[in-house]
Amino acid sequence: MAADAIVIGAGIVGAACADELARCGLKVLIVEAGEIGGGATAAGMGHIVVMDDSEAEFALTHYSARLWEELADELPSGAEYTAAGTLWVAADDEEMAEVRRKHSFYAQRGVRTEILDAQDLEQAEPNLRKGLAGALFVPADAIVYPPRVAAFLVECACRNGARLERGRRIHNMAELANATALIVNATGASAPALSPGLDIQPRKGHLLITDRYPGFVRHQLVELGYLKSAHSIDEDSVAFNVQPRQTGQVLIGSSRQYGSSDPAIEHRMMKRMLERAALYMPSIGRLSAIRGWTGFRASTPGKLPYIGRSPRQPNVWIASGHEGLGITTSLATAKLLADQILNRQPAIPLEPYAPNG
Ligand SMILES: Cc1cc2nc3c(=O)[nH]c(=O)nc-3n(C[C@H](O)[C@H](O)[C@H](O)COP(=O)(O)OP(=O)(O)OC[C@H]3O[C@@H](n4cnc5c(N)ncnc54)[C@H](O)[C@@H]3O)c2cc1C
Repeated sequence: MAADAIVIGAGIVGAACADELARCGLKVLIVEAGEIGGGATAAGMGHIVVMDDSEAEFALTHYSARLWEELADELPSGAEYTAAGTLWVAADDEEMAEVRRKHSFYAQRGVRTEILDAQDLEQAEPNLRKGLAGALFVPADAIVYPPRVAAFLVECACRNGARLERGRRIHNMAELANATALIVNATGASAPALSPGLDIQPRKGHLLITDRYPGFVRHQLVELGYLKSAHSIDEDSVAFNVQPRQTGQVLIGSSRQYGSSDPAIEHRMMKRMLERAALYMPSIGRLSAIRGWTGFRASTPGKLPYIGRSPRQPNVWIASGHEGLGITTSLATAKLLADQILNRQPAIPLEPYAPNG
């Protein structure tokens, strides 16, 4: 098969791009060095979350969350799509002011949220420590199991004629120089290796999963201080971020570090992360943990992914740099990339996501 498009990388972003391009009638070749969804996609938490850090981040996450809602009925049960909602937990009055700001930001843009006071929060999540100030509840946010979704999207692409080459690593775009096809670099944190000049840095994260404790946590719980942690660019940071899995397991996150390319678990980071979790949920320390792991987010200076034509490499399109939101934004990324390739009208402005190098 002579491909119209070669998608390098079958993480959730490459899988979504391959699916969208194949649905649009392009002959797609997917090239994956390792397992489908085996990179950052397997390491991620799978929280589908609308964020309000900037208008461009809101536009992308909101658009993508709507696409997830549309896809939900088609997903296999193994994708574990659950509309659990997010509780942004406020520790004190200062953070309650942030709850009110977020509530009004979302309301102005058509996203339903509810403000919970201390008593409402206690009822919603009895295992949180007493004395917290309240929370913002975002009911439409959801949870998925990302590697299964990536595999599903690859299966969909293949049903629409795509071909998968697994176990093949592309070392240099020159290997594909004879191909007339357009090339999509969807290799996540590895993207600069194939597209030199692209400003993407790996940002390490730790997670830990427990044995099964059904009902221990009911919603995705995130401390409002998470935003400070996500923004810190020079310090290692941790934040309380806990998720109920359909299995009854509790997924505990998360940490952020620059400057480390070693995937080994760092016990000092794991310890800090668990101490932070115990500060919000004292009884979490009694749960039995069964596995910990790390992964690398692909971080960009503008805190937005690159979705568009490479300014340096003719025929190459970039879909990389999704930091801690690539599960959420994968579906919108695929739509926006296909819009540009096929000259369709995009649902949101494209400019904020233009690749930088
Ligand atoms: C700890 C942690 C928690 C997170 N939590 C969330 C969350 O709750 N919600 C959310 O939205 N996001 C979350 N994320 C972010 C999310 O996981 C990533 O943004 C997303 O998985 C990126 O997907 P990707 O397809 O771009 O990259 P990857 O999943 O890394 O896929 C890239 C693929 O390319 C392949 N590849 C690389 N180089 C080559 C090559 N040269 N040739 C062939 N193949 C190649 C790799 O093998 C890999 O499979 C989290 C990330 C981490 C680390």
